[in-house]
Amino acid sequence: MNDLNPSGWRPSTGSSEPGAWRPTVTGHRALEQDEPLLFEIGSLDGCGVDFDEDDGAEMLDALPRRTTPVALPGLSEPEAVRHYTRLSRQNYAIDLGLFPLGSCTMKHNPRLNEKVARMPGFASVHPLQPQQTVEGALEVIAQLADWLVALTGMASVAMTPKAGAHGELCGLLAIRAALEARGEADARRVILVPESAHGTNPATAAFAGFTVAPIPANPDGRIDLAALLERLGDDVAGVMITNPNTCGLFERDMKTIADAVHAAGGYVYCDGANFNAVVGRVRPGDLGVDAMHINLHKTFSTPHGGGGPGAGPVVLSQALAPFAPLPMVVRDEAGKPRLIEDPAERTDAFGRMCAFHGQMGMFTRALAYILTHGADGLRQVSGDAVLNANYLLASLKDVLDAPFAESGACMHEALFSDAGFAEGFSTLDLAKGLIDEGFHPMTVYFPLVVHGAMLVEPTETESKAALDQFIAAMRDLARRAKDGDPALKAAPVHAPRRRLDETLAARKPRLVWKEA
Ligand SMILES: *Cc1c(COP(=O)(O)O)cnc(C)c1O
Repeated sequence: MNDLNPSGWRPSTGSSEPGAWRPTVTGHRALEQDEPLLFEIGSLDGCGVDFDEDDGAEMLDALPRRTTPVALPGLSEPEAVRHYTRLSRQNYAIDLGLFPLGSCTMKHNPRLNEKVARMPGFASVHPLQPQQTVEGALEVIAQLADWLVALTGMASVAMTPKAGAHGELCGLLAIRAALEARGEADARRVILVPESAHGTNPATAAFAGFTVAPIPANPDGRIDLAALLERLGDDVAGVMITNPNTCGLFERDMKTIADAVHAAGGYVYCDGANFNAVVGRVRPGDLGVDAMHINLHKTFSTPHGGGGPGAGPVVLSQALAPFAPLPMVVRDEAGKPRLIEDPAERTDAFGRMCAFHGQMGMFTRALAYILTHGADGLRQVSGDAVLNANYLLASLKDVLDAPFAESGACMHEALFSDAGFAEGFSTLDLAKGLIDEGFHPMTVYFPLVVHGAMLVEPTETESKAALDQFIAAMRDLARRAKDGDPALKAAPVHAPRRRLDETLAARKPRLVWKEA
C-alpha cells in the first residue's frame, strides 16, 4: 500500500509518463474525495457543538447520569454534512446514468411524481387520522386500485403489501385461505416453482409453509410444459410463475398451464415484477392468473433501491378476492371510497399484512405516473422497453453469447453469458470493467439456469444515444474478455475501491467500528 494513498485507490500504471496517473497526497481523485468513516475523521474526545458550560446543569443533577462516555465522533455540522455528501458522490444512481440491472427495472422517477407525493395533504397524513379527514388519500388509493384492476383484468387488489416479496406472501396466504375454505389446506401443500424463478418465489413458498417442487426449464429458456403437467396432482396448492420470465422471455404456455392447474384443483400465482414489459398489452386475468404482485417501484416508476420503501399490491381473481387481507379500500354504491378495518365486515379476509393501508407516498407517485401517461402512454412504455432491450440484444449478440437469442424476441431485458471468454475470464471481469466505463454493472450470475449470466435491462427511458454509448462500452469489454486482456482483470481502476472480497463481506460482515 502506498503511504500517500492509504485509501486503496491505485494508479492504473506506475508510469511517470507526462499525463500518467500519479497518487495524490490526499488520496482524492479530483472531485471524487476519499472518505473514511465518521469515527475516523471525528475525535471521540471533542464535541462538534458549542454548549454553555452550566446550561441545564441544575436540572441534569436531579437525573441519573451516564458514567461512560457517549463515544460519538465530535464533528461540526459542516464536517458531518461533507462526510455524507462525499459518500453520496461515490454512489451510482439512476439520476447519474444508465442503470442496466436486469430483473430490477431501475427506471427514471419523474420529478412530477415527487412533487405530488410532497403535497402536504398527502405527505402529512397520519394512518390513525379519522376517515373523514383523509378522503382524498382514500380516493388516491381507490383510483390506483381501479387502474391496477383494469390493467390486469383481475377482480380485486390488495394494496397493503410493501414490496414484491411481501406481495408474493400475500398471494400465497390468500391461496392457503382459499384451500382452507375448501377443506384442502392439509392435502395441498406443494407449490410448483420453475427453476428460472426469481429467488424470492421459492423463499416465499417455504416461508408460507409450503413445500417447493422445482420444475425444469426447457432449452429455449421457458418452462418445461410437459414436466409441469406431469407434476400436477391433488397435493399441489398451485404454481408460481414469473411472466415475462427471468430469462427475459414471455411464457407463451401461460394459459395452457393455468387451465391445467385449475383443472387439477390448484391456483396460479404470477410474479408480476416484470409487468413493465407487457403493461397495456397483456392482461394477466385473461391468462388465468389468480394472484399477481405488481412492483409499483418497478413498473410504475416509484423510487427503489437501498431497501425501499417499495409497494407490492396484489391483484386477485374472483376465486381469491374474498380472502384479501385487511384493511381494504372499497367504493360504496355512490362510488365513494371507504376503508374497511373491521374483520366482521370481511369474514373471509385472511388477516393483515401490515398495520396500515400501505405506502401512501408510493401510491401517490404511482398514480401520478399512470395519470400522466394515460392508457396509451403505458402501452408505449412497454413497447419502448421491449424495443430498447431488443436493440441491445441485436447490437451485442455477435460479440457476446446470447443463449436464447434464437427463442424469439426478448422482452424488456436481454440475457447474455460469458461463454467464449478467454481462459480465466468471466462475467465478473466484464462487470467490473463496466464500472470503469462509468456504468453500474448489469445483474450478474442470475438467472441461475445460465452459466455466467448477464441480465441487461435498459428500460424505456434511455435514448438511442445512451444505448449506443453503453453498447460501445460492452463491445469493447467483450473483446477484451475474449482476448484475455490482463488489464481487465485489474478493473475497476477508476473507482474508489477495487475488487472487494464479496464472499467474506457477506459471510463475516464487520458492522461495528472498533478503534484501531
Ligand atoms: C424485484 C423482483 C421481485 C421482488 O420484489 P421486491 O420488491 O424486491 O421484494 C420478485 N420477483 C422478480 C421477478 C423481481 O424482479
